[in-house]
Amino acid sequence: MIWSVWSRLALVALTPAMLSLSAVPTGQTPAPAAGQAPAASPPYDLLLRGAHVIDARNKISAVRDVAIAGGRIAAVAAKINPADAVKAVDLSGLYVTPGLIDIHAHTYTGTGERRSYAGDNSVYPDGFTFRTGVTTVADAGCAGWRNFEDFKDRIIDRSKTRILAFLNIVGNGMRGGNYEQDLADMEVAPAVEMARKHPGLIVGIKTAHFAGPEWTPVEHAVEAGTLAGLPVMVDFGANRPERPLSELVTKKLRPGDIYTHVYSGLRGEQDPSGHVNPALLEGRKRGVIFDVGHGGGSFLWRIAAPAMKEGFVPDSISTDLHIGSMNSGMKDMLNVMDKFLAMGMTIDDVIARATWNPAREIKQDALGHLSVGAIADVTVLRVERGHFGLTDHNGARMDATARLVCELTVKDGKVVYDLNGISRPAWQTLPAGYGPTGDARWDGLNPAPIRR
Ligand SMILES: [Zn+2]
Repeated sequence: MIWSVWSRLALVALTPAMLSLSAVPTGQTPAPAAGQAPAASPPYDLLLRGAHVIDARNKISAVRDVAIAGGRIAAVAAKINPADAVKAVDLSGLYVTPGLIDIHAHTYTGTGERRSYAGDNSVYPDGFTFRTGVTTVADAGCAGWRNFEDFKDRIIDRSKTRILAFLNIVGNGMRGGNYEQDLADMEVAPAVEMARKHPGLIVGIKTAHFAGPEWTPVEHAVEAGTLAGLPVMVDFGANRPERPLSELVTKKLRPGDIYTHVYSGLRGEQDPSGHVNPALLEGRKRGVIFDVGHGGGSFLWRIAAPAMKEGFVPDSISTDLHIGSMNSGMKDMLNVMDKFLAMGMTIDDVIARATWNPAREIKQDALGHLSVGAIADVTVLRVERGHFGLTDHNGARMDATARLVCELTVKDGKVVYDLNGISRPAWQTLPAGYGPTGDARWDGLNPAPIRR
């Protein structure tokens, strides 16, 4: 079935040259002449026309126009008049989805600390997000209560990407081996206090990288999550017989808690028979969430492909972006999504796992969908067909015939990335000596100065 969708999106129909040749109403409002009252402003700032909209929350998978005003979704309908928008963009043949949400990224960089996810191992998010359609990331526990506000000041408050965070149960966060193994620094009360101080920004509690036999990190993370009303995300660290995966997902975690790195194969996710560990199925029945968290060492075809064949699909797709994954098998959010297309998941199911599912997992109901009134984070994707290869963390390749390309990203109602200039005028149509060509009501890239 997915093939028929893809074949309708044959690349030949979607070249940038053809997009620019299509009749794109510029919708530019002429400046009023001197002495005249300004013409009434159109009701919409930006109109995305004619794309196939995938909105899992609203169960829409059909060609729709999407209108945006004041940074919010203003209308979704079969046809919306382009004259009603300051800017209308023709997106025929493309997909429009809610802004992608990556709930496992490492972004606490800039401290200068070596070999640390509260330092050099992390990346500045803006270099990776909008170009791949991601508008929101959740940092997966780089900071704990001791350094969260430094992270906020250094990165969260200065980035264009919407950054939310899982707070590490370790007070020092992911500063490296000795810090992350220190049971005495896994205190519940100060973590809860910090989470309560930043509601809507701290969206979960993280435990990760623990090598010892104790349950303390998980138990304290769950206790903090319970007190703060937040989900817990677990990177289960070293595989220890004293604290087996089965007990984690069938007893220790609560419904809504998130097991990440589910296709790593590092902790018995696949049992020796080659089938999915039955404990994962039992955990799923209890409401435990299973997340991809691809990273530099947590996604293998020999684990993921058989699991997918058995129907054990992820609840959410995420990158585990950091310096060790950004140029290896993982690459970026779309590459991880491509892997699930290659394993036979429909594009609708892939998009749901990168939008509405992760939004729900971190209880961010205003994100991940295109309901009227929702935050206008929107991603425009092209399905490119050809011969591609997708690699896992050991460098094993799966061949693929489709990949997702981000054409346009809108955050808070403004265009923040436009690969082929589909929202821009052709330069020959502009006056000699032209300046910035956009309008601040829809354009986050090249808005013309506002004339008063
Ligand atoms: Zn991670």
